[in-house]
Amino acid sequence: MGANLLVLGGTTEASALARALAVRGVQATFSYAGRVDTPRAQPIPHRVGGFGGVDGLARYIAEHNISHVIDATHPFAAQMSWNAFHACRAEAVPLLALTRPPWAAQAGDTWHHVPDMDAAVATLNGPAERVMLALGRLHMEAFAAQTQHHYVLRLVDTPKTPPALPHHTVIVARGPFTIDGDTALFTEHAIDRVVCKNAGGAGAEAKLHAARALGLPVVMIDRPELPDRETVATVDGVFEWLEQ
Ligand code: NAP
Repeated sequence: MGANLLVLGGTTEASALARALAVRGVQATFSYAGRVDTPRAQPIPHRVGGFGGVDGLARYIAEHNISHVIDATHPFAAQMSWNAFHACRAEAVPLLALTRPPWAAQAGDTWHHVPDMDAAVATLNGPAERVMLALGRLHMEAFAAQTQHHYVLRLVDTPKTPPALPHHTVIVARGPFTIDGDTALFTEHAIDRVVCKNAGGAGAEAKLHAARALGLPVVMIDRPELPDRETVATVDGVFEWLEQ
């Protein structure tokens, strides 16, 4: 029997892997959590929705004769990554993570590292500022705990209900972003501070270059604890692993 992969997706890397698998004719299924209304179309078969925890995923792996699992979820999707780790161990199916390396501070950066969203909110306990939140829509409401600031939110879609933040500006834009564009944006909105997650990758890195150029401090939310699994950073790395 040939390989039959399960690709846990929702990232640019996962979509790039799906294209490469389709080109090479490798049998694989792409899995979406189902968070967005219109997920990007994939050139391989896909399924949508949670598996039902570790047991549900283990059952799926067994029932669908999955030979390998590639965890290409976002580095902040820790629950899914832990579930994949335990389900693969239970089913004795090899697991590989495809993930971008985290960003590292460079000379000229002023990063304030925090472990999670709550800690990021807690650091904003000073006087009123204009704060850029580059976090996605799920976490906006937490910042209502610090009402003194004016928040500039960059979101992929126009929110269906306005964010519950007394002073805010919504910018609807989809990456990848450019350094010049982000520098102009931060200047135009007189940004004092940037809050973001250490997602890694090139498409979202422009904001860090812009912050460095303008001397702005960054509240950097570090990655959650992820399982200790074999990891590659490129699609080519996945094929090398499969050939082993
Ligand atoms: P999470 O907290 O780690 O996962 C919560 C639950 O959602 C999982 O236990 C699982 O449900 C289900 N799930 C997550 N990813 C799935 C997938 N690829 N296929 C099927 N079920 C999945 O995840 P999250 O942070 O909410 O992220 C959800 C999705 O958005 C992921 O696919 C991730 O790659 C993508 N994403 C996340 C971020 C971020 O910042 N967190 C950013 C960009 C994209 P069951 O337990 O029922 O199986």
